[in-house]
Amino acid sequence: MPSFVITDKCDGCKGQDKTACMYICPNNLMKLDKERMKGVNQEPEQCWECYSCVKICPQQAIEVRAYADIVPMGGAVIPLRGSDSIMWTIRFRNGNVKRFKFPIRTTPEGSIDPYAGKAQPNLADLTKPGFFTMTGELPTIQN
Ligand code: SF4
Ligand code: SF4
Repeated sequence: MPSFVITDKCDGCKGQDKTACMYICPNNLMKLDKERMKGVNQEPEQCWECYSCVKICPQQAIEVRAYADIVPMGGAVIPLRGSDSIMWTIRFRNGNVKRFKFPIRTTPEGSIDPYAGKAQPNLADLTKPGFFTMTGELPTIQN
């Protein structure tokens, strides 16, 4: 089941050009309806149910209703992301509620530099044999 926006909670990320749900969706499904200032999943059948938009929405305005074989009818799985942990609230169809909290990082947000200490790529290497998409003439095999 795709994500859907609870419009009463959504504030359109206060009219920013790119809302949080638009920023995070790996499939570019979320968009802002500028007339109503509400987020919307523009192509629900393409949704991967990855929960990324659910986790990032600052208003907790997005839900994904999982398929019945994963979450039986009447149940719900609701994540609440903090800066260093995430809380999953599992509501069973008999009304029972369980909460699980997991750490998600050990470093401050924004502190990671993924390219630190790594050499810059050498673009000239792209012309070497072995790269399928190289430009120019293909190399020939020398006997
Ligand atoms: S991230 Fe949440 S509040 Fe922001 S536009 Fe999307 S649904 Fe609305
Ligand atoms: S659940 Fe994942 S794929 Fe579906 S709209 Fe949200 S971010 Fe995109």
